[in-house]
Amino acid sequence: MTLDLSDKTVLVTGGTRGIGRAIVEAASAAGATVAFTYRASSDTADQLVADLGGPDRALAIQADAASADDATAAVEAVVAKWGRIDGLVVNAGITRDGLMIRMDAQAWQDVIDTNLTGAFHVAKAAYRPMMKQRAGSIVTISSVVGVMGNAGQANYAASKAGLIGFTKSLARELGGRGVRANVVAPGYIATDMTADLGDAAADGLKGQIPLGRLGEPGDIAAAVLFLLSDAAAYVTGHVLHVDGGMAM
Ligand code: NDP
Repeated sequence: MTLDLSDKTVLVTGGTRGIGRAIVEAASAAGATVAFTYRASSDTADQLVADLGGPDRALAIQADAASADDATAAVEAVVAKWGRIDGLVVNAGITRDGLMIRMDAQAWQDVIDTNLTGAFHVAKAAYRPMMKQRAGSIVTISSVVGVMGNAGQANYAASKAGLIGFTKSLARELGGRGVRANVVAPGYIATDMTADLGDAAADGLKGQIPLGRLGEPGDIAAAVLFLLSDAAAYVTGHVLHVDGGMAM
């Protein structure tokens, strides 16, 4: 089945690179009008809008995921431009890795502010228009690390585990209004975030992955597209692991 998003408007946070970019491109290819946020890559963002067909088809919004005001402005810009918001993909995320013994409070707070509190801000901004529409799909991007934990990533794992409880709560609160909320939990995906992993570590990881390879951004985009689409009309509160079988 080919997924059709041609009647939908979707906002993706952190859409200039990696997984977010793959989601933006796939949603646009499926017919959606797509807005995306970014933090710093304005040239890349402008080029991506052009590649997607220009301002009628795409909108780039500079917005810090950790800022409540930026999140509100981003959602308002989407609704002002296209009159609705059908899909929200909470993808923007950062790491500040370090063993607990060396992790300072700032590294903890930065990751929680961007990855978890950022999800709260943007979902809160989107849920009013979605509730008014009595339709919408929210997808948060967690991580295998949020399910399994990982030495050296206590802050990141906490933020990603928090997203799961957060999203399930949204599913329970918003289901009666026709709004769905689901989580995608990627395994190790080849992006800038994992670029400095090194060959030895990547080979070690492959040994823990039943499918025997790291994932590609497109593997995650395919799962997100399903959850955004009407094919997932009866799916809410679900955690979809897209990790080659790493966590099961
Ligand atoms: P990348 O580092 O490759 O890309 C991050 C994207 O998020 C960029 O578009 C960046 O914008 C944007 N971004 C970062 N910080 C902010 C911010 N404060 N405000 C707005 N935008 C921001 O990350 P990935 O594609 O690898 O990861 C995407 C998501 O998937 C993250 O939530 C990550 O935790 C999660 N994930 C990734 C995995 C992996 O193996 N790669 C595994 C599991 C989960 P800009 O270009 O302007 O900097």
